[in-house]
Amino acid sequence: MSLGEFDLIARYFDRPVRRSALGIGDDCALLTPQPGMQLAVSCDMLVEGRHFLSTVDPERLGHKALAVNLSDLAACGAEPLAFTLALALPQADEAFLAAFSRGLLTLADASGCELIGGDTTRGPLNICISVFGQVPLRATGTGALLRSGARPGDDLYVSGTLGDARLALEVFRGTVWLDGSSFDAVRKAMELPQPRISLGMGLRGLVSSAIDVSDGLLGDLAHVLQRSGVGAVVEVDSLPLSEVMRSQPLSLQRLCALSGGDDYELLFTAPAEHAAGVAAAGAAAGVAVTRIGRITERSDAGGARPRLVDAQGRPVDHLERSFDHFRT
Ligand code: ADP
Ligand code: MG
Repeated sequence: MSLGEFDLIARYFDRPVRRSALGIGDDCALLTPQPGMQLAVSCDMLVEGRHFLSTVDPERLGHKALAVNLSDLAACGAEPLAFTLALALPQADEAFLAAFSRGLLTLADASGCELIGGDTTRGPLNICISVFGQVPLRATGTGALLRSGARPGDDLYVSGTLGDARLALEVFRGTVWLDGSSFDAVRKAMELPQPRISLGMGLRGLVSSAIDVSDGLLGDLAHVLQRSGVGAVVEVDSLPLSEVMRSQPLSLQRLCALSGGDDYELLFTAPAEHAAGVAAAGAAAGVAVTRIGRITERSDAGGARPRLVDAQGRPVDHLERSFDHFRT
């Protein structure tokens, strides 16, 4: 690389650490979680062509690379502490690096999550981030939100709105056309997801299970149902949708909201007695929280597939057709 590896790190990534014990520059970084806390660790890789388009604005890419990792911490109710960045770059493109590090470090600062180390190499563009957060360790076990605790009778909730990122992807694929301002709005949902960290921390002690929606509501809900050994009913007419989404055909709305992916909202379950607490946690975090169904006993026939019903409680079975229509 024309710009040497160490100059590149010093110029774009090395900043004084604030909370961590030791940051960039030694063989290991050092973290000191508070007493009584457990480390929560997660890792996500972003590969060009698979997770982002080559045309993406590098500042937004920097934001998204960290945001998808912070979303995993949020899903566990963890407070962000620090992260590492393993970066493969085809060349040391300074315009790219300046914008990428700006997007990355702006979100890092806003989330109290410090860059404490990483690795840099030449290769096809690939971004791998590991995040470290902390959750309380209680006498009864971990205070982390897990996928495994949903119980029949619990309410099922989701934060924010669903499906806009998928709608933006369909515009890029050429299957959907939107006017300029509508496209900007859904493109922002795709490129600048907001990890629900405050909400996740606020839900500690209230929820029975949680997951972040990264692969689509139905797919991620299936993980919760599997891990918890339960079933679910989802009221499709209750799914929270943006204004842009609400002006789309019903089949497209449902496809995007149920199977879209890249939402980075929190999907969680809570017993009915915590409904007011859940609403208060949403209000405190400034994030909409919507009840979209309930947890049931697991049916032998349904397996981990939730039952979909409309506002009148009638079964909805549209998915396969919409899928065929939009599958690439
Ligand atoms: P080592 O050879 O011991 O792995 P490196 O020479 O790769 O160390 O890295 C030197 C220092 O710079 C280390 O502290 C490492 O964590 C940090 N570092 C390397 N690449 C990055 C990066 N992309 N972002 C942040 N820190 C980095
Ligand atoms: Mg190294």
